[in-house]
Amino acid sequence: MTQPKATNLTWHMGEVSREERERMRGHKGATLWLTGLSGSGKSTLSHRIERRLLERGVFAYVLDGDNVRHGLNRDLGFSPEEREENIRRVGEVSKLFTSAGAIVLTAFISPYRADRDRVRATMPPGDFVEVHVATPIEVCETRDPKGLYKMARAGQIPDFTGISAPYEAPEKPEIVVDTGKADVDGCAAQVLAYLEAHGYIPKA
Ligand code: ADP
Repeated sequence: MTQPKATNLTWHMGEVSREERERMRGHKGATLWLTGLSGSGKSTLSHRIERRLLERGVFAYVLDGDNVRHGLNRDLGFSPEEREENIRRVGEVSKLFTSAGAIVLTAFISPYRADRDRVRATMPPGDFVEVHVATPIEVCETRDPKGLYKMARAGQIPDFTGISAPYEAPEKPEIVVDTGKADVDGCAAQVLAYLEAHGYIPKA
């Protein structure tokens, strides 16, 4: 559904503009959308980036896949339609946080290019920063932090991304990191450098 169900809705403009809000906080709002295979390092990396940003006084917050499925998206499973709705809702929450001036980090496999592009399209240019956590599947499978690859190989998890369900890599992500090549702080530093270079946050 692209249009609201209810009619007679009007958008209420706030008193504080986005620009004024960002001036007051001293940094811009953005959604850093991490996408990649299970075990690629999205959660670990997003929480480290959040810590580094908070240490610098930047309002940052992680929206994590499993956590969101405990609450907001508890009614959704892993079929293609439910994955799409999962990402749509997360995109809307990210948009709200971003307009509130936060740097939101999302850590969802988000395997479908069209779903990610749809979220990008709902935001003004520059607000959506796609971070491809491009760790090779062999590395993810060796790590297997939750034992999911083992279960998927044994046929115990249907529709497992990278094994029995597709992963569509981004074509033009703003940032690519490979957590098989650099440690967590090294990968976090790469993302912070991008944010500094593009004026989202002041230089350290
Ligand atoms: P995802 O959220 O993508 O499923 P996780 O962050 O849950 O992945 O798991 C990634 C695993 O890889 C963790 O056990 C983490 O300690 C390990 N790891 C090793 N090197 C890195 C790195 N450079 N960045 C992120 N995680 C790493």
